[in-house]
Formats: sequence, C-alpha cells, structure tokens
Amino acid sequence: MSDQTEQRIAFITGASRGIGASIAKAVAAQGRHVVLVARNADKLDEVKQSISDAGGSAQSLACDIGDQAALEGAIESVAKEHKRLDILINNAGITRDNLLLRMTDEEFDEVIAVNLRSVFVACRAALRPMMRGKWGRIVNLGSVSGLVGNPGQANYAASKAAVVGFTKTIAKEMAAKNVTANVVAPGFIETDMTDVLPESVKQLAKDHTPLKRMGQPHEIAAAVAFLTSEDAGYVTGQVLTVDGGMTTV
Ligand code: NAP
Repeated sequence: MSDQTEQRIAFITGASRGIGASIAKAVAAQGRHVVLVARNADKLDEVKQSISDAGGSAQSLACDIGDQAALEGAIESVAKEHKRLDILINNAGITRDNLLLRMTDEEFDEVIAVNLRSVFVACRAALRPMMRGKWGRIVNLGSVSGLVGNPGQANYAASKAAVVGFTKTIAKEMAAKNVTANVVAPGFIETDMTDVLPESVKQLAKDHTPLKRMGQPHEIAAAVAFLTSEDAGYVTGQVLTVDGGMTTV
C-alpha cells in the first residue's frame, strides 16, 4: 500500500469504445481521474458521462494519435493542467488486414503509425511528468498476433511484437525512476475490431481457445487496472496474455 493522497491522472488512448472504454471505467473505479482520448468526441462524451454517473472522475480529449504533434500536445496539456501525469495506457489500435503478397505500403505504414509510432511518441512525452512525480505506470496493448503471428496480419503482428520489445526496454530504462512498463496482450475479444470478421473466422478462433469463447472487454480492463494499481509496483517488463488459453495450445 502507499500513502498517496492526491488523485492520480491516467491518460488512456482509444477510450471511446471497445477495450479502451472498459479500461477507462475500471481505472476510474480505482479512484483515478481518467483522460479519455480518441477521435470521436461524441463517443468520448458518452463514456465520460457513464463514468460520472458511476461516481468517477473523467474528461474527454479528442485527438488523432496518428498526428504526432497533436498527441504530444495533448499529453503536455494534461500534465500542465493537472500538474502531474501518473498513468499512460496506450490502447488505441487499428487493423488493415491483407495477405502479405497483396499488402500495400499504405496498409503497412498506417498500422505502424497508429499501433507503434504513437506508443513511442506518447511514452516519450509522458516520461518527464512521471519522473517528476517519482511514480509511473505504463501499459501498452499488445496482441496474441504479435506473439505467435496471424495470417493476414503481418503489419499488425509486426507492430504488436515491436511494442513488446519497446515496453521491456522502457521497463529497464525507467526502473530506477519508479516507473513500470508492461504489455497486456489480448486474444480474441468482442469489440468493433473483431465484429467485422466472418462468422467462420470467429468460430475458428473459439475452437482454438481452450475456454471456447471470445473474451469480453472488461476481462482485459481488469488486467490493465491491476498493472496500473499501487500494488503492482514490483511488476515490470512483463507481457500479461489474456486470451482464454489460446497461446498455450
Ligand atoms: P476497437 O473496438 O476498434 O476500438 C479502437 C479504439 O481506438 C477506438 O476507441 C478508436 O476511437 C481508437 N482509435 C483508432 N484509431 C485512432 C486514432 N488514429 N487516434 C485516436 N484514437 C484512435 O478496438 P479494440 O478491440 O477495443 O482494441 C483495443 C486495443 O486492443 C487495440 O490496441 C487492439 O489492437 C488490441 N487488441 C484487440 C483485440 C480484439 O480482439 N479486439 C485483440 C488483441 C489486441 P476513434 O475511432 O473514436 O478514434
């Protein structure tokens, strides 16, 4: 336990829906003030309202994380407004699936920009306020695709695998500053991202999952909330896979 008294500030990307909205609710329920980041301002406001209705504290901040200057500006403005930034959760992510032989330069570059480059930009910007506060928690969203590969996702798998090496490096660089960095790697979770997949693909995923079902966003959020908690201070540089056992078979 800590003697922390001031409310900690959490910056969460992709918080307008899916896993990110669940993470925001779980982290707010732990008493953090959550800054909800995504492009769709209306959807962010809906999440903010539901957090407020539950007694939590939230603000929304519309931002395209593919725009480096906008993302850096958003993090700097939050750190300035609250005079601190304690928790960074890089959750926003996209897919542009295609078999490698047909994959375009644009499909590759777009996925790398949103899933990897934004993580680099956000972490670099957040480290200074975390160091000033002598405390920090970074959680980056990976994927089982980045751990074991997945046909049609060379771009996505590359971005998520890179996030693992990147995060382990931050864990080592920042350990002396009391900043932890970890990855949560989901399996197949029911969100807009997987909703577009054909029923046959979803069935195949369930067949390859020992728990024989897709996961729910709140099941990922619980893992992220733990890793951002006061009690997770001795956990760093880890990949917590939450996949119904998929990667154990
Ligand atoms: P989702 O339902 O598609 O939601 C994606 C979120 O990211 C939305 O809030 C979206 O908001 C935001 N976003 C996308 N591009 C953005 C941009 N350029 N700037 C700002 N925000 C942006 O995805 P999800 O399933 O919740 O996935 C969340 C994370 O988990 C991702 O990193 C994903 O790769 C990872 N993951 C998901 C699964 C799964 O099965 N669902 C499995 C493994 C890993 P706006 O559209 O409003 O901008």
